Amino acid sequence: MRLRNIPGAREEMLVNPYIVQNPERLRGTWSAEFGNQNPVRIEIGMGKGQFLLTLAQQNPDVNYVGIEKYSSVLLRALTRQEELKLPNLRLMRFDAETIDEVFAEGEVDRIYLNFSDPWPKDRHAKRRLTSDRFLARYARILAPSGSVEFKTDNVDLFDFSLAEAEACGWTLSHVTRDLHNSEDAAGNVTTEYEDRFSAAGNPICRMVCTPPAQRV
Ligand code: SAM
Repeated sequence: MRLRNIPGAREEMLVNPYIVQNPERLRGTWSAEFGNQNPVRIEIGMGKGQFLLTLAQQNPDVNYVGIEKYSSVLLRALTRQEELKLPNLRLMRFDAETIDEVFAEGEVDRIYLNFSDPWPKDRHAKRRLTSDRFLARYARILAPSGSVEFKTDNVDLFDFSLAEAEACGWTLSHVTRDLHNSEDAAGNVTTEYEDRFSAAGNPICRMVCTPPAQRV
């Protein structure tokens, strides 16, 4: 994603009521934060938020947390949330490296990873959001019935992610290399990157995976 430094974006993150400050303080208490027992689903690397804002409007009985590393990108999602004021959506500027310090064991029902940065160099493989290091963190915070849903147009990253999930003992389902022409196309909510890459003619890959029963 081309990042422009938007003046004041970082400062806005520190004072805006729709941005969760010091999210570690909510670890284990997300239900209380939302004021209900509805499932909590998160998107890591939400970008400008098209996907999560759509889901939050479609599913008022699900709680959503959008996580994005960069203020300048998150600002777009924030502007939209200021208009919509969705009670079931929280946003945070946060690096998912320490995601298990924000959510307690079993607290998350679903993790969405959409068009995650590919980090093409082998020496950066550990930074990929579907690497074994991240999968271990996800396994800790997911509920027993929880899952990770991953979409990308990057075939190398998709192959890596399938192999990594299998090697870590995760169970794969809904694996497709052409989501928009698959049986899972109906009901698919697109992201900004998905719209862009699909319009350019790139097939969209998708997989769903569930962690091993034995937690690490
Ligand atoms: N998900 C959006 C979409 O599909 O349109 C944005 C995709 S963009 C290629 C990847 C996003 O993930 C960027 O906005 C980037 O800042 C964010 N990101 C990458 N690594 C991250 C991390 N460790 N924690 C949080 N966000 C991250």
